[in-house]
Amino acid sequence: MAKIQMKTPLVEMDGDEMTRIIWKMIKDMLLTPYIDLNTEYYDLGLVHRNETDDQVTIDSANAAKKYGVAVKCATITPNAQRMTEYSLKEMWKSPNGTIRAILDGTVFRAPIIVKGIVPLLPSWKKPITIARHAYGDVYKNTEMKVSDGSKAELVVTDKDGNESRELIHTFSGSDGIIQGLHNINESIAGFARSCFNYALDTKQDLWFATKDTISKKYDHTFKDIFAEIYENEYKARFEAAGIEYFYTLIDDAVARVMRSEGGYIWACKNYDGDVMSDMVATAFGSLGMMTSVLVSPDGKYEYEAAHGTVTRHYYKYLNGEETSTNPVATIFAWSGALRKRGELDENAELAAFADKLEKATIDTIEDGIMTGDLYILSKLENKRKVNTTEFITEINNRLEALMK
Ligand code: NAP
Ligand code: MG
Repeated sequence: MAKIQMKTPLVEMDGDEMTRIIWKMIKDMLLTPYIDLNTEYYDLGLVHRNETDDQVTIDSANAAKKYGVAVKCATITPNAQRMTEYSLKEMWKSPNGTIRAILDGTVFRAPIIVKGIVPLLPSWKKPITIARHAYGDVYKNTEMKVSDGSKAELVVTDKDGNESRELIHTFSGSDGIIQGLHNINESIAGFARSCFNYALDTKQDLWFATKDTISKKYDHTFKDIFAEIYENEYKARFEAAGIEYFYTLIDDAVARVMRSEGGYIWACKNYDGDVMSDMVATAFGSLGMMTSVLVSPDGKYEYEAAHGTVTRHYYKYLNGEETSTNPVATIFAWSGALRKRGELDENAELAAFADKLEKATIDTIEDGIMTGDLYILSKLENKRKVNTTEFITEINNRLEALMK
């Protein structure tokens, strides 16, 4: 059988610990037997980041910008303990943060759904994809403790030196607290375009919600920017694609999400996305089944698993113990990236391979063969727990049959 050819390189960002081990297994066992893999390889493992003074992360993000599609392995974000463990020159920043800053993207997280693993809300039949705005609000706030008798005001000085003031509160009878938040229209617009594009891409409705009735300028600006961009740039394309843009209040959105069957993208302000993504992920089951894609407003894509490097399993692996680490989210990062590369290059064979790889993976779990994290959750009667190598081998048995 002739291997599938790739026209444009895919940007490959390797990573750390258990996911680095799984990364190689996926390539060796599921990809290179079928594809003449054409990747531009960047080693984002912590050792190499340290050697290059983290330049490799910047280079990989610029390559993602150039070629349009990247696939990333989970990476360590250094903390004090990692400084010693890896003898780091500096406490390098989170690679995901660096890449997101260069691509200016929005992260979309979606669960992979399989038969036998029922969400905590059984009415959720289809994935709920959460898009979190990754700039500003309480994450870039300024706050103060205020003593009794103080007057707090918002003061803005424009470029000509003119001041405008608004009273926040006059504290009398008690000490208190204040907080200053901001956001930038350009960032909100970029967020909106990423969401509208991704909705069109995946043919799913887009929901967005804020508290605009209470926050008549701040939250209302989010609502207005989304509405204006939708009307001017996306309405016709949404109608042609048969999908909907739906705006409501955040509390109404939460109530509707709980009652829904899923199958849409839920765009969230920064804080809402932080909180709701944990709720949705937990309700759908395992971290090992959560995918993540960073989409820039100008349509560049970086695919990855939502989980980290699974450190605890890695130390077992180093001790020569077998691990049953779930590779599914990392496999879907590859299939997502290969499918997108296939679409952009009009390489139907490559896109079809991505579909088959995903089908082989889901079929394996639905046949009852799964890693430990899923074994605990699955309601299948004939379920069997296997180690990572056995699991990937079983996927390949099914993939081979699909490729015939
Ligand atoms: P983690 O790697 O996601 O793992 C947390 C726990 O979740 C694991 O110990 C494991 O539970 C379970 N788990 C996660 N993924 C799994 C999988 N594929 N299969 C089976 N179980 C899985 O998070 P962490 O331990 O907080 O972070 C470890 C390292 O990853 C840190 O250095 C952090 O900086 C990095 N990180 C990177 C990214 C990224 O690159 N996007 C994201 C998050 C964290 P049990 O141990 O109970 O089996
Ligand atoms: Mg959170």
